[in-house]
Amino acid sequence: MLDETEFAEVSSLYRAAFRSEKPKGLSLEALFAPVSQAYERLTGYAGRQPNAVIHHRIAQYGPPSTACGNPLRTPEARYCAACGKVRHEQGDSSR
Ligand SMILES: [Zn+2]
Repeated sequence: MLDETEFAEVSSLYRAAFRSEKPKGLSLEALFAPVSQAYERLTGYAGRQPNAVIHHRIAQYGPPSTACGNPLRTPEARYCAACGKVRHEQGDSSR
């Protein structure tokens, strides 16, 4: 499990990869390789899927703030405790 600082690093790499335009021919694995590499460096666990890394964390703490990137305190948090940004709802919920 990552602490706050470690997760901030991994999640910022994840967001950067997610936002970047995927070059033609580059696999998603290659695009997200920096995330896996950072996770391996921080935890010693190799070969983790970036999505699994992020979603495991989100399951416990909630997604990162869309404004400042700090994780929300719970998956149900309605706003960011760090900066006060109201959570952006992603359309229809799973409930
Ligand atoms: Zn925030």
